[in-house]
Amino acid sequence: MALRRIKGVDIGGTFVKVVHHDGRREKFYVHHLVTDREAFLREIKRIVDDGRPEVVGVAVAGFTSTHGVVDRSPNIPALDGVNLREFLEEDGRKVIVMNDVTAGAYGEWFYHHTDSKVLLLVAIGTGLGAGLVIDGRPFLGACGSALELGHHILEKDGQQCHCGRRGCWEAYCSSYGLENIYRRLTGEHLHHTEIVKVALQGEEKALESVQIMLDYMVTGIMNALHLFNPDRVVLAGGMVEALKPWLGNLEEEVRKRAEKLPANCFSLHFSSEGEFCMALGALALAQDHI
Ligand SMILES: [Zn+2]
Repeated sequence: MALRRIKGVDIGGTFVKVVHHDGRREKFYVHHLVTDREAFLREIKRIVDDGRPEVVGVAVAGFTSTHGVVDRSPNIPALDGVNLREFLEEDGRKVIVMNDVTAGAYGEWFYHHTDSKVLLLVAIGTGLGAGLVIDGRPFLGACGSALELGHHILEKDGQQCHCGRRGCWEAYCSSYGLENIYRRLTGEHLHHTEIVKVALQGEEKALESVQIMLDYMVTGIMNALHLFNPDRVVLAGGMVEALKPWLGNLEEEVRKRAEKLPANCFSLHFSSEGEFCMALGALALAQDHI
């Protein structure tokens, strides 16, 4: 069989990232287009069409249905209600559309953890997303919106979350979550990269903010262990990278706090794919289709 032309595309609110079947990687800045539906779709189509791929996996940041419709994307309003699969499928091309972190979880399983029975990916950056792969299959839920772990509530009437609710895991465990914790402690606004920087220098309130965020990270992962009993938990995302200096004993902390049976069953890993984790997952979806 001739080699099929395939690619993985990760559509985010700032960049679109592409991984080709030959390993080539590309990154396109799209943040200036996220509120302009026509311009955004034109750019997505240009990026996807390039090289005339026959199978395309698409990972998209948002609530995505099993039919390929982006029901709602808080960071890319231009995609709200768009049937991406229909829009991108032409001339017999096959397009598989999935929530970005679910695709990322599938990529982690496909490339690194095929011996895992239940793999959970938690991605922490601007927001907090999660994906679950059970026996090698992404778990989508009935409509495609499973694993919105970022919006499971840890504090009733707690910190404001971008989803409109209060006290969500994401409201504490994300870049803006850390900024909110710091503001609550000091009354001042500081960018999350600055908070991490001065925390590393030992500044007391910044360090305390990081510790509070880590505490919520442990609680959220513990809840996920109790819900899904995974054998792998993989962490990814910009905030995970930034907080690495403090994450050395995270696995142990979760194990201490969680119920013994699920606690002894899991191991914690860090994604080695960096910012291309979701695009690689999308490529894995395309590869799997073949
Ligand atoms: Zn929320």
